[in-house]
Amino acid sequence: MTNQSSKRYKRPNKAGAPVLRLDGKAVADARRKVLQDKIAQFTQTRQRKPGLAVVIVGQDPASQVYVKSKVKTTTEVGMLSKHIELPETTSQADLQKLIQQLNEDKTIDGILVQLPLPKHIDTTTIVETIKPEKDPDGLTTGNLGLLMAGRKRVAPCTPQGVMKILEHYNLDPKGKNVVVVGRSNIVGKPMAQLMLDADATVTIAHSQTKNLKQHTKQADIVVVAAGKPQFLGADDFNENAIVIDVGIHRTQDNKVTGDVRFKELNVRAATPVPGGVGPMTIQMLMENTLALAELT
Ligand code: NDP
Repeated sequence: MTNQSSKRYKRPNKAGAPVLRLDGKAVADARRKVLQDKIAQFTQTRQRKPGLAVVIVGQDPASQVYVKSKVKTTTEVGMLSKHIELPETTSQADLQKLIQQLNEDKTIDGILVQLPLPKHIDTTTIVETIKPEKDPDGLTTGNLGLLMAGRKRVAPCTPQGVMKILEHYNLDPKGKNVVVVGRSNIVGKPMAQLMLDADATVTIAHSQTKNLKQHTKQADIVVVAAGKPQFLGADDFNENAIVIDVGIHRTQDNKVTGDVRFKELNVRAATPVPGGVGPMTIQMLMENTLALAELT
């Protein structure tokens, strides 16, 4: 699925040309239609819908918004949605018991536990309680291990979404110098692995990296996932760079912003925030759930 002929985008290749806006929302919308058809086909063949359980513990407002959106999308694409809300005081043992029940529930193909969890619950133990075969976030060590070993079951949603945006715009990482800023298990590390799998030459930068700009400035593709609002700008990239901004932050006046100062960029292409990587993360969650259902 490519978008080279789209009239909505000017494709700049030289300095001074407008920045190609990599519209993750449009990519997600296009992929959603294809996904809906695949889900309808699955439902007809298997006589059941793929099922996604979303578990939220407590009342964190940002998490509530994310979960609502995931539940709504699950239903919209034609999957079975199980939405489980638990009180803040839920014990670790009770949460583990619930996940174990969902692990055995034949109507459920994916289990998503919304993070962060309340402080008294150990996140690693909870994530590892999810059967890797039912982990659409790709966060269990079972799934991360398969990814690193080149035998991917599903990859974490956000980095996979980044790869699909590049694919949509025919921006092939093969042979390119890629810098990933951030090394978390959920974004940075799997992002680097997916870029490596796509034959890029990859550098991973982090908080202890010396002279970050020296790395980002020479890169063909920079994926910024530092979790620092408006952290990098025009000076940090070369004019032919492709800049992917994974960061999501809410400003004091309730606007959503990223890790990159998008408006000042003079690069080949970049994702905006909002409307870039964010919409692809949820789309990948849906696609991964179907992929897991198809493996049953
Ligand atoms: P983490 O806080 O887990 O990781 C941040 C990473 O950035 C760390 O590896 C850290 O290095 C590195 N870092 C911090 N400061 C610097 C610096 N000055 N220079 C270079 N590297 C630095 O965040 P996540 O990976 O979970 O998320 C990153 C961002 O992406 C957040 O804004 C988050 O909200 C957003 N996000 C967006 C999603 C989406 O759907 N669009 C989904 C998931 C996350 P070190 O390891 O040394 O501490």
